[in-house]
Amino acid sequence: MSKITKKVKSAKHVSEFESIFKCPICEASMKVFELKSFICLNNHTFDFTKQGYINLTTHPIKAKYSKELFEARRKLIAEDKFFEPLIQAIAEIIRRQADIKKESLLLLDTGCGEGSHLSNVCEKVRPDFGNTVTGAGIDISKEGVLAAAKNYTNQIWAVADLANTPFKDKQFDVILDILSPSNYAEFNRLLRADGLVIKVVPRSGYLKEIREALFDERAKQEYSNIETVDRFNENFQKVDSLRVQYTRELNNLSMQSLVFMTPLTWTAKEERIKLFLERDSADITVDLEILIGRKTN
Ligand SMILES: [Zn+2]
Repeated sequence: MSKITKKVKSAKHVSEFESIFKCPICEASMKVFELKSFICLNNHTFDFTKQGYINLTTHPIKAKYSKELFEARRKLIAEDKFFEPLIQAIAEIIRRQADIKKESLLLLDTGCGEGSHLSNVCEKVRPDFGNTVTGAGIDISKEGVLAAAKNYTNQIWAVADLANTPFKDKQFDVILDILSPSNYAEFNRLLRADGLVIKVVPRSGYLKEIREALFDERAKQEYSNIETVDRFNENFQKVDSLRVQYTRELNNLSMQSLVFMTPLTWTAKEERIKLFLERDSADITVDLEILIGRKTN
């Protein structure tokens, strides 16, 4: 697909959903103009990019994560299917908890990165909701959103700030927050009545083989999510929580991807990482908790 077509395609896609957006500067309604720009009633203008996403941040954000990190993440998720059981579980939760009688479903991923999780979840639940499932993915990282737009053209991708998301109140049926930061006030504002928030947090066994290989300190080896779970339950009406635990054997190439995309490795000593990556393969544990809540008001 040519780059021009991608820009037009994303502008058309956003125009179908323009009523859910608000200007990140003045909160006014927005309109797609000539399939080129997204303009609010007060003329604040944001241009669609040739890569197929739109940048709706109000000030430049320093890149924290590189293009290579998102490429590693995409490979591990899309090609190695490292998170497949998690995605299956999330799709099943949406099937069970979202209103199946609805004719369409609007999902928001609030930290979409390179978009694989959102895209996979949307594809899985699409047949259950009359084939009208739309995902909107936002991330503060331009590199992540750019990679998402490059690889998945069926969703809406925007660079946006989680503290000031460019959406009107009560627009989304489901919010996905997978191993990324939260803003619960914003989540409650964005959810429709009865809307679902699905948050994925690590449990103590998550990537334990990597932590054991890279760190000696017990403090760094242990991880507790009690505070996170408590805070979630204070902000939402608890529906359920679910543990997803499995072990995957990764080959050396996939181990490299995993190490590269995992923030906890960034403080490890170079020689420990090297030693770990000398292995041909490794069994890696995925141990996650899915917190499921409903909007409180
Ligand atoms: Zn405006």
